Amino acid sequence: MKGVAILGATGTIGVNTLDVLARHREDYRVIALTAHSQHQRLAEQCLTHVPDYAVMVDADAAEKLQAELQRKACPTRVLQGADALARVAALPEVDIVMAAIVGAAGLSSTIAAARAGKRILLANKESLVMSGKLFMDEVREHHAELLPIDSEHNAIFQCMPSNYTDGLQAVGVEKILLTGSGGPFRDLPLDKLAGVTPEQAIAHPNWNMGKKISVDSATMMNKGLELIEACWLFDTSLDNIEVVLHPQSIIHSMVEYIDGSVIAQLGQPDMRTPIAHALAWPQRISSGVKRLDLFDIATLSFNRPDEQRYPCLQLARQAMQTGGTATTILNAANEIAVQAFLDRKIRFTDIAATVEYALGQCSVTPADSLETIVRTDRFARDVAHEFVNAYPKRTGASFTS
Ligand code: NAD
Ligand code: MG
Repeated sequence: MKGVAILGATGTIGVNTLDVLARHREDYRVIALTAHSQHQRLAEQCLTHVPDYAVMVDADAAEKLQAELQRKACPTRVLQGADALARVAALPEVDIVMAAIVGAAGLSSTIAAARAGKRILLANKESLVMSGKLFMDEVREHHAELLPIDSEHNAIFQCMPSNYTDGLQAVGVEKILLTGSGGPFRDLPLDKLAGVTPEQAIAHPNWNMGKKISVDSATMMNKGLELIEACWLFDTSLDNIEVVLHPQSIIHSMVEYIDGSVIAQLGQPDMRTPIAHALAWPQRISSGVKRLDLFDIATLSFNRPDEQRYPCLQLARQAMQTGGTATTILNAANEIAVQAFLDRKIRFTDIAATVEYALGQCSVTPADSLETIVRTDRFARDVAHEFVNAYPKRTGASFTS
């Protein structure tokens, strides 16, 4: 019986994880569930899965959760505050931590899981983008096990030989082909991009995801973050990774070998496949995912991404090449810009402009301590906020859709 903590249980990844776990109650026990403020959903999850602990970051929501669980005589203990996230991630009875908080808010609890030597199922790519080498060092030092949940990285992991940590060159890997759908605006005329609404941006053609990652998919910052994520996870450089647009989202990524072989992982665009894979690895368990019908799909197509349409992709590459805290700045500014776009404070095309501005304004230092990373993250957020708040003055207009 493995003990599981889900950080970000009420999100898309959290809900999918609970769905897989519910199919295997004899093998996994839910020890802790966490959320920011969605107390109703977390209460329902506690009643179904009866974890030992439920963490609610928001104080008001924690009180409501506590009252609801008491009323229903649910024995789950409610903890309040952001510090409790790291506490439950490090509990001795927890073997597996699903890191599925969105954004930089997931950093300290994901690091805590690494320091406690857990099996980490990493969905929260932002924490790796922010802290890169530091995070990987913590994983190695504390013998944690890092398994990617991002469908592309999970696919790459599945296409790699088991000894890939000897070095990609040593095992005959020539390059990684990182696929991406291109998002909902793949075919929109470029001059229409500035006018797209948050509703259009979060309506992803193939995947059902949280709002932030859906906007990231539309700008392809998501693919940029994933390029950085792949460099760290597979200890390689940007030169060895190619982004391939694949609108059907059936091939989740590929690995090309020096003998000309290309190994791909295929599956439905359903996150329960990578979740089940990483939970049970190296075993396989059922996930509830619909079987792939190749006759139904019939056609798979591939394109090069249009750099003009997706400036965020280039910004992410630049930040990774710069190194140090540049990717921390990239991530922080992007989080602020995406939220401002969702709040209708800036246009879709201003997301890239905000990130570019922050990268130009913040000085890059070596990312040598968690303190430096947290400080850089805060500073870059302030700079991005400034840029976003100056939007009406700069353009003489406020954005309403
Ligand atoms: P979501 O918005 O649906 O859920 C986010 C979760 O994080 C919620 O449980 C929320 O309560 C929690 N949260 C938000 N802010 C918090 C804070 N300040 N403190 C503590 N908890 C907080 O997001 P999602 O789509 O499930 O994505 C989660 C992560 O997984 C992201 O990093 C995303 O990039 C990654 N990911 C998601 C998918 C997907 O298909 N949804 C695929 C690959 C990777
Ligand atoms: Mg992905």
